[in-house]
Parts: sequence; C-alpha cells; structure tokens
Amino acid sequence: MTSNEAVHNTTIPETMRAAVLRDPEVGLEVEIIRTPRPKNGEVLIKVAACGLCHSDLHVIGGAIAFPLPAVLGHEVTGTIVELGPGNEHTGLKVGQNVAGGFLMPCGQCEACAAGHDELCGPFFGLNRLQGLLYDGTTRLATLEDDPIYMYSMGGLAEYAVIPSTSVAPVPDALDLVPGAILGCAAMTGYGAVRRGADLRFGETVAVVATGGVGTNIVQVARAFGASQVIAIDVSDDKLAPMPGYGATAVVNSVTQDAREEVLKLTGGKGVDVAFEALGIPATWKTALDVLADGGRMVPIGLGAGVQTAQVEINRTVRRSQKILGSYGARTRQDLPAVVDLAARGVINYKDVVSRRFPLEEAGTGYEALRNREIQGRAVVDMSL
Ligand SMILES: [Zn+2]
Ligand SMILES: [Zn+2]
Repeated sequence: MTSNEAVHNTTIPETMRAAVLRDPEVGLEVEIIRTPRPKNGEVLIKVAACGLCHSDLHVIGGAIAFPLPAVLGHEVTGTIVELGPGNEHTGLKVGQNVAGGFLMPCGQCEACAAGHDELCGPFFGLNRLQGLLYDGTTRLATLEDDPIYMYSMGGLAEYAVIPSTSVAPVPDALDLVPGAILGCAAMTGYGAVRRGADLRFGETVAVVATGGVGTNIVQVARAFGASQVIAIDVSDDKLAPMPGYGATAVVNSVTQDAREEVLKLTGGKGVDVAFEALGIPATWKTALDVLADGGRMVPIGLGAGVQTAQVEINRTVRRSQKILGSYGARTRQDLPAVVDLAARGVINYKDVVSRRFPLEEAGTGYEALRNREIQGRAVVDMSL
C-alpha cells in the first residue's frame, strides 16, 4: 500500500448503531448514525465490547462538562476493519484483534516525546475538551451530517475510529468481551502501580475502593511483588472476591476502623503505598490514614468536577509522606504490557467482568454503576 491509500475490506456498512448522549436528563439512547471512517494515522475497528467506567458516568450525569451530542465509551476491544493512511510503520493490519486505550496520545507533542502519553496536551485540548480527533474534527455524524462528539474513541457503538497510537494488538486467544477492560480499568491499575507508585518488591500496599480499577491494582500490586495487599472498601460484597485476586487481607471501612486494622496488620507501621481508586473525600481520608511514615499515597479516582479533599498538613509534612497523582498510564508502552499480563494469566481479566449488557441497555448498566451495584466491571457486549 502507499501512504495515501486507506486499506479496508468491503463490508463496512454506511450506518451503525451507537448509544448517543444528547441530554444528561434523558441519558443514553441508541440511534442510527453514520459509520465513521479513519483518517491519517487512525484505524477503524468493529467493536466487540466496551467497558462501563466511572469517568463516563461523570459526563452522563453532567458533572464534567463535555460537548453534546456525544458518544462515550473509552475502553474497547475489537477487530481492525480499515486502516487509514499513514499506518505504514505501525505494523497494524486489517483483521487483527486489538485493545483500545482511553488515553489517545498525539505522539508528537513535548509530553509524548518524553514518553508521558498521559500528559499529552493535544489529547486533552482536542478530545477531552472538544470531543474531536487530531485534525480538529469528529468522525461521528448523524444521518443529516450533524456532528456527534467523541469521548476518547466513542466506543459505545458498532464501529469506532481510534488513533493508531492507542491500539495494542491482542493474541487470538484473548477473550475480547472481558478484554475490553484492558484499555482503562486494567491499564489505569497498571499505571498506578508501575508509574504512580513505582512499587518495589516486598513493599506493603493498601487499595481503597475495590471496583474495576481497584481490583486490577490488587492484582498488579501482587504481581509486582507486594508483600501485603490490603483491600479496603465499604461493601462486603466487593471485598469478598479480593483474596482471589491476591489481597492478603480485607477491611470494611464502615464496620471496622481502617487505620487501626491496617496498623494491626502491618506491625504498627501502616502501608508503604496506599492507592485510592474512587475520587471522593472519604476514600482520600482512608488512604492517607493508613499510610506509613515516608509512604506514598497514589490517588487515581477522578472526582466529580472541581472537588477537594482534606489533607492533614502536619502529618504529611512531619512524616515525609507523598501524594502522587496518577492518571491512566503510558498507552504506547503500558497497554501492550497489560495485554501481555492478561494473555499470560498474570492478571485475571475475565472474572473482573461481572455483568454484560447489550448496547440498548448501556444506560441501565451505567445506572447500576452509579448505584454501586456493579461488582468489578460491567461491559457492553456488542454480540448481545
Ligand atoms: Zn475509564
Ligand atoms: Zn502528545
């Protein structure tokens, strides 16, 4: 192929189904819209599944401003059906199964040059603020050609265009439906452990809030050699499966005093690293309360809009504690690593997915997520 030609098979339909958000009061509704086509440095995938994540929930509920109408959904798997031009050096092929990461780095800015995909300015400026891709337009449109904006790749649809920088090939043996969680829940968990905490063998860990991301942090922390992984949540139901993912102890912070329990479990010291995976003041407090002297608190849960948490000044200062925000991961380096961990069975991605919804019921799935009824992660399975 030459650099000006797109490569595709001929079965791409003119229109597709997508869950569109037009009004936070109404929520998601499935519409027939134009099937997107990839431009330079992009691929088109036929979506196999898309995970339901809290960050979408903030947009659906109107807590985080985003241009509407929009298609959300930012952790996907699928099969490449078309390559846009400019993919000569990506090694990507039509027919290949891939995972798509929610952070879609431009690959050209200063942050990207330094390997900091998670700090890519153009990504935030164009996609997260305006719902666009790197040519300054969206790939999605109504049948009347009115624009529909994209939160990441707009994965809650039958087809999705993704910049080639944020897809990672997956082996055929990888189960694509639960595999959807690799692109956000698992990648964010990996990023928190590998990048945020830079966890070392033998360190002790607490994970506060054991939903989709928290469950993955438990698994990755154990894989990185944490000597203790203490899972903390407000729900016994969410804590029950944690030992199966590698937690060495579980603490219910409603019925138990989390600080006392963690001190007891760690010989009075507290943990070297406390991960916070929900983004509310209460979970920040718990994570800071269980931290050892010199410990690192790694928050990865996004708050609803402009939210603040309290930090005890003297404890943080006098005990040399660090607060190390961690957003996602470095898509191009870390997503392939996460795929590899999943493929080799080091992290269990299948059991994390407890609910599967058809596209028509995506709104119901998010409602269950809002009501904290989802164990681990729910996904939209496009085959249902
Ligand atoms: Zn997410
Ligand atoms: Zn960039």
